[in-house]
Amino acid sequence: MTQIIDGKKISQEIKDELREQVAEQKKLGKEAALAVIQVGTDPASSVYVNNKKKACAYIGIGSLSYELPEETTEEELLALVEKLNGDASVNGILVQLPLPAQINADKVIRAIAPEKDGFHPENVGKLVIGEPGFVSCTPAGIIQLLKRSGIKMEGKHCVIIGRSNIVGKPMALLMLRENATVTIAHSKTQNLPELCKTADILIVAIGKPQFITADYIKEGAVVIDVGIHRDENNKLCGDVRYDEVAPHTSAITPVPGGVGPMTIAMLMHNCVESMLQ
Ligand code: NAP
Repeated sequence: MTQIIDGKKISQEIKDELREQVAEQKKLGKEAALAVIQVGTDPASSVYVNNKKKACAYIGIGSLSYELPEETTEEELLALVEKLNGDASVNGILVQLPLPAQINADKVIRAIAPEKDGFHPENVGKLVIGEPGFVSCTPAGIIQLLKRSGIKMEGKHCVIIGRSNIVGKPMALLMLRENATVTIAHSKTQNLPELCKTADILIVAIGKPQFITADYIKEGAVVIDVGIHRDENNKLCGDVRYDEVAPHTSAITPVPGGVGPMTIAMLMHNCVESMLQ
């Protein structure tokens, strides 16, 4: 029987644990806060930002909201980041992407203090050498999904499709930390279906709607679908053709309700960890 990995339930468990931790810390006079910066009024970004604020409120983390106009300059944004870096009451800084064309997103990410953000090159370096640090939220969430669903990673062959800095690469390093044998595939990889068929755990972050069919799956594999898209009927779907693939797996994440809810839960987790340090 296929196990449907319930990201909604697992992310709720994590948020409830964090809520308890935050309440305990409050008794000791410690408080956590996340600063969320949005530049412009992209409707999708507004939905993400609001969800983050809601999660903060649920857990008991303060949220400082900065809604800057579309024409904000890079200097203005960098000045705000600098101010928040120096504010000891702020544990995490989130700059919602995408940013308008006049702002260099890489420059802004590098400007955020490493102890307040997961994408900073210093944290990526720490991940490579196995030191603790802020980890990119989506891959960290996938590790939690697997652990909390009782799925063993040690010694398993994990194929990751995608090598982006926010998903594929940190995912590979985290799976390595869990003692999986890791292969990373990308757009230049040859014989992708054959390679995927050797995976005990297949993590798909290819960014192409319903790309992965049953031809890519070893019978009984675990499949994690990172993709988020809207299909022709405006329904949410992933990178995996779920109905066709699920019967061949031992466990699979649905879209929606799989990886998606974990990203915010792990952002909250990072923020609480930063407060505890
Ligand atoms: P991305 O930056 O577009 O990376 C896609 C990767 O897939 C690239 O490494 C690319 O290879 C590879 N690729 C593209 N076509 C391929 C092909 N035909 N065969 C093999 N590999 C191929 O995407 P991303 O930011 O990592 O995101 C991936 C997906 O996850 C997107 O759908 C995104 O919306 C979703 N996402 C979801 C969450 C969440 O919270 N659930 C968070 C982040 C992202 P090259 O490097 O060679 O170009």
